[in-house]
Amino acid sequence: MAERLIFCDFDGTILVEEIFRDLLREFAPAVTARILPEILALRTSLCDGLSEILASIPSQQWPEMEAFVVEHSHLRAGFTEFLDALPSLRWELLVVTGGFTRMAELVLAPLRDRIRAIHGMEVDLSGPTLRVFSPWQDAEELVVKKAIYAHYAPTEALCIGDSVTDLRLARVCPRVFARNGLIDYLAAEGRACTPFEDFYDVLRALEADK
Ligand SMILES: [Mg+2]
Repeated sequence: MAERLIFCDFDGTILVEEIFRDLLREFAPAVTARILPEILALRTSLCDGLSEILASIPSQQWPEMEAFVVEHSHLRAGFTEFLDALPSLRWELLVVTGGFTRMAELVLAPLRDRIRAIHGMEVDLSGPTLRVFSPWQDAEELVVKKAIYAHYAPTEALCIGDSVTDLRLARVCPRVFARNGLIDYLAAEGRACTPFEDFYDVLRALEADK
């Protein structure tokens, strides 16, 4: 059967907020302030930097972290309507997040039956501090979104994202919806994308394809 799959980012895309960054700043302010600039200046890989920040947070704080995410997350306009329209458009949606899978599961629980899968970073709470891992990691990133794309090997695909962490996927995906910084990264590489502000824009574009 033909698989028509949408690979959709979570932070800053499905969510209005950068909830994962906000979470790090809330629960590991000092370590985040020290390491985030190192990551952005490419002196530390995203993989090593994030692992170090998260390892500074006690595992017993996890329930508070979940409560923070639930309290501060807001879905971007049109996302629910977009999900509702996908079956008639013959598309299925997967969430690919550089943040925690469990956090995306929690926020998207009311909509979960309309989402094929959620893939992101996993957390091990059995030790004194958070330990993170992912089945999709390489030397650079904990969640290599293009590895998830390759795993599914869809017949047709599009991706939706907003930042540099979506760039490697956007380079291999045949159609890209972009907002914010991702538009500039793609423009700099001479790659086409469809800019969007909310999910009503994406829905209108897919309906026009029919
Ligand atoms: Mg994002």
